[in-house]
This record gives sequence, C-alpha cells and structure tokens, in this order.
Amino acid sequence: MYFNLPTRLYVGENVVVNNKDEFASLGRRCLIVTGKSSAKKSGALDDVIAALTAHGIEWKIFDEVGQNPYLSVCYRGGLVAADFGAEFVIGIGGGSPLDAAKAIAVFGAHPYMSPSDIFGIPQENALPIVLVGTTAGTASEITRFSILTDDKTGEKCGWGAQYSYATVSFGDYRYTESLPFGFTVTTALDSFSHAVEGYFSKKADELSDIMSIETLKLLLPVLEEMSVRNGTVSRQQREKLYTASIYAGFPLNRCGTIFCHRMGYYMTETRQMSHGNACALFQPELLAHAQKHAQEKCDRLYKALGRSNDQVLDTLRLLTVTDFEPLRDDEIEVLLNKWRTAENMQYVLGGMTAQEQRGIAERVMQKKR
Ligand code: NAP
Ligand code: ZN
Repeated sequence: MYFNLPTRLYVGENVVVNNKDEFASLGRRCLIVTGKSSAKKSGALDDVIAALTAHGIEWKIFDEVGQNPYLSVCYRGGLVAADFGAEFVIGIGGGSPLDAAKAIAVFGAHPYMSPSDIFGIPQENALPIVLVGTTAGTASEITRFSILTDDKTGEKCGWGAQYSYATVSFGDYRYTESLPFGFTVTTALDSFSHAVEGYFSKKADELSDIMSIETLKLLLPVLEEMSVRNGTVSRQQREKLYTASIYAGFPLNRCGTIFCHRMGYYMTETRQMSHGNACALFQPELLAHAQKHAQEKCDRLYKALGRSNDQVLDTLRLLTVTDFEPLRDDEIEVLLNKWRTAENMQYVLGGMTAQEQRGIAERVMQKKR
C-alpha cells in the first residue's frame, strides 16, 4: 500500500474564511489564477480576497486561463507572477485554472526555463500553491497532476511532481452552485471515471479500492437522480458531488488513469468534447473488459453498490452525450499508434491486446456497434 498526500485539505462550508491564517504563512504577495468568470460567479474570489486583505497580503489577478489550458498561457502567467514578485500562487476554478496554477507556480519560480521542459525535466521547486475548487470533478485540489495543452501539437499532456501538490486546498461545495447543469453532469462523470479507472488499474491497492468504492456509493445515486430529473441539482446533491470528487482524488493520485482518459483526451483535442464526457464515453468498454478479466473485482464492486452492471450502464447512457462526428479511419490509426506506447495502457487490469484496443476505438469513436 502506498499513500502520499502532502496537501492540507479543508472541506466544508466557509473553509476559506475560517482558515484564512493558512495564507499568512505563505508570503506577502501572491498571484491569483482564474478563468474568465467562474472565480467571481462562484463567490470564491470574494472569500479569498477577504482572507488576503485580513492579513495585508498583496495580490494580482491573472484571469486568462481557458478550458484545457495552453502551455503558453501558463508560461505567460509565470512571467506575470515573477514580475509581480509573487511568493505564492492561488488557483481558483475548475480543473483548468487549478492545473494552470500548478504550472504557473513552476514558471513563476523559474521564468528562464523552456516552457515545454515542464513535461519532462524536473525543476528543484515551485512557488507554494493554494487551490480553491469551483467544480466537483477533477480533484486537482489534491493531486499532483496538471494537464495542459501543448501549443505546438494541440495535444493534452500531463505532468506532475512533488512540488505540484498544493500546500493548502479548500473545497466549499457552495462554490459549485453556480456551475451550469451540463458542466455539473460532465464533472461528476469525471469523478466516476477516476474511481472506476483507479479500481481497475494494476496499481490499485487496498486503500485506493476503498476510496473508489466509497466514491461510487456516494456518486451513483446522485447521477441516477440527475439522469431522470434533468436540470436541477439540490444543495445536498452538490455537497455529495463535491465530496465524491475529493474521494476519487485518492485512487487518481495513487493509480493515475488508464485508457479511458488517454482516449478521452483525443476526443477533446479533435471534437472539442468536455473532459468528463469524453472519459465517460469509454467507461462501458472498461466495465465490459473488467467483466471478462477481473470478474471477482467486478462482483465485489457491484455488490457494494447494490447495482447490476446493466443498471450502472443505463445511468451512464442517459448522462453521456454521444452526438459527435465519428472518427475517420486515418484518425483511428493515429490514435492506435499513440495508444500502443501510452503509459496509461500498461496498467489496465487483465492487460489489453492490440485487437481489443482497436475494437474499443472502433466501437466508441466510430460508433461501430
Ligand atoms: P473547467 O475547464 O475548469 O471549467 C469548465 C467551465 O465551467 C468553464 O467555462 C468555467 O468557467 C466554468 N465554471 C467552473 N466553475 C464554475 C462555477 N462554479 N460557476 C460557473 N461556471 C463555472 O472544468 P473541469 O472539468 O473542472 O476541468 C477540466 C480540466 O481539468 C481539463 O483540462 C482536464 O484535463 C483537467 N483534469 C485535471 C485533473 C488533475 O488531476 N489535475 C483530473 C481530471 C481532469 P471559467 O472559464 O470562467 O473558469
Ligand atoms: Zn479526469
């Protein structure tokens, strides 16, 4: 069993304001990294500014982060941080601003490094990072991962290091109340994918399995309710979704992801599909593969959930958007070439042959059922 989570995590109502002293030890100046509007709409930015003001900490906002953040934007943010003399970085938002904040913390400490080195060449350190989540999905608050879009290739690339863990993270589910229904669903599907991909990874251990199962026990009933009552999400449901997203961060941190995320990135890159929906498209294939190659683990999971495989698939089917343009044959070949060498492929429980990989790509991405 292995466990590594150096982040001090606060979850609950008012955690930013109630724990404002956490900011005081990190420095006197900071860069706040956000998307266009979520930090304001959610109320998180106001709470953070109140906490900083209470301690006389100076701040500057960098609000240029878009979805699937570009490396170049993060590098620019790093230069702004260095120029401002920021001693720490605060990311506020969904996975995109939080992942960008991790990269900006590296570039802020090392403004002369080559931006693409972030993907492979470890630095000595980064500025300390504080993260405040406004979506319930990625668990970026407690993972070391940062997923950025490489400007040169248009590909989503992940990196992570010990210094990319946040020093402190705050999760107040009330910040997710302004998130539109569609994003609420896709981010919840992202949590689902983290739990299931972790559970069926060769890296899974006793602790990550417990957290995967607990995630799904909390998440599935809410997903079922959302699949029939389109458009509304109650406070209680928001709280469960946020807690589930954090639970799922444990298997994600321990196991990483397997083929569903790798494949999903390609759907985002080529079909502009949201991250959570893109990963969810492949979950039925993962569950079918697991039925064949990891029957005992499957049985244990369904028993704990009190659901059959068919019931889980029905919920996924009702929530996943599938009206995308099917991939062309040449795109499938590009993808399979990448897939063969992708690290995420090695850890699928039960292994996966090239023929199985092709079958999944054709069934899901070309809709050849
Ligand atoms: P996101 O890309 O951060 O945000 C999606 C949209 O929701 C944006 O338009 C955003 O607006 C808006 N939004 C966010 N919170 C809101 C709120 N409370 N109220 C109103 N609007 C809100 O979505 P995400 O799904 O959380 O993050 C996806 C990214 O995370 C992907 O790049 C994915 O690869 C990455 N990811 C990272 C990890 C990890 O471990 N680090 C794990 C999974 C996924 P703004 O543009 O104004 O912010
Ligand atoms: Zn994800």
